[in-house]
Amino acid sequence: MEHHKISPVGRLAPSPTGVLHLGNARSFLMAWLSIRSRGGILRLRIEDIDGPRVRSGAIEQTIEDLQWLGLDWDGEPEIQTEHLSRHEKALEVLQQQRLVYPCTCSRREVEQAASAPHESEGIVAETIYPGTCRDRWQDEKHARSETGRDPALRLRVMEPAVAFDDQFTGPQVGELSGDFVVRKRDGTPSYQLAVVVDDAAAGVTEVLRADDLLSSTPRQLLLYRHLGTAAPRFIHLPLIVGPDGRRLAKRHGDTSLARYRREGVSAQSLVGTLGYLSGLADEGTCCRPEDLLDGFQLDRIPREPSVWDGRSHLEADD
Ligand code: GLU
Ligand code: ZN
Repeated sequence: MEHHKISPVGRLAPSPTGVLHLGNARSFLMAWLSIRSRGGILRLRIEDIDGPRVRSGAIEQTIEDLQWLGLDWDGEPEIQTEHLSRHEKALEVLQQQRLVYPCTCSRREVEQAASAPHESEGIVAETIYPGTCRDRWQDEKHARSETGRDPALRLRVMEPAVAFDDQFTGPQVGELSGDFVVRKRDGTPSYQLAVVVDDAAAGVTEVLRADDLLSSTPRQLLLYRHLGTAAPRFIHLPLIVGPDGRRLAKRHGDTSLARYRREGVSAQSLVGTLGYLSGLADEGTCCRPEDLLDGFQLDRIPREPSVWDGRSHLEADD
């Protein structure tokens, strides 16, 4: 009997908060390869929900960087802030189930009420919200009139953890860090809510991203469940790190694509380098994304974070 094969649907979801750097580019290239190697559909969504941080021209710059790398997508880019009514509807669905409540705590109050965040391997663990406002206010109006503050909305989290099977990282029992924000104090949806609502609306069946978002996945799975939508499969890849083993950041120098372009590095040597760091190409390879399609296998990607020493590999092509 023949199986009816459904084309996978993936997405590139850049936040236009600055310029793309090597780490982002690696995730996008892998997301592209994973979908394109199976003839699937790939969407582009610009996650500009963090209003004030989005610089003018950043959306165009992000799209241009992706095109320069040689990546493509199906349909028009979707701009997240153009779908706020969709997020509102989802919030209503949660509200009807009495799953959300107003919270007037400031960041500082949450930090003071919670036990001190601990640091492990240079990553500061998220502060756990201790539930201060759980049964404190009758409704948003009450919360506002008592405190003079605009409340955020938090989701009631009843379960300590959510189990799921990551397609790269393996079986996970992801701990939840208490009731989390689904609508921020300024009235905009939180990242956790927006990403779930938008992926669901786009029919996304596969989310491939770096494992700095692994700890968000339990919260997102909970939202899929409460919203009554099937969750995609998740693939979290290790981050690219510097020689000191810490995630690639400013301290390791400028790894923005803009910089490499400025210095005359070709897209093909960049793609080749990302392919090399991902176990898909030999060192020194110059190639286009489509040249990596044939050999693409998730299990060729190293389990350990790939180290970027910032010196070798990338030199200007003459
Ligand atoms: N926009 C998010 C970021 O750039 C990615 C969200 C996601 O892949 O779920 O960090
Ligand atoms: Zn609170």
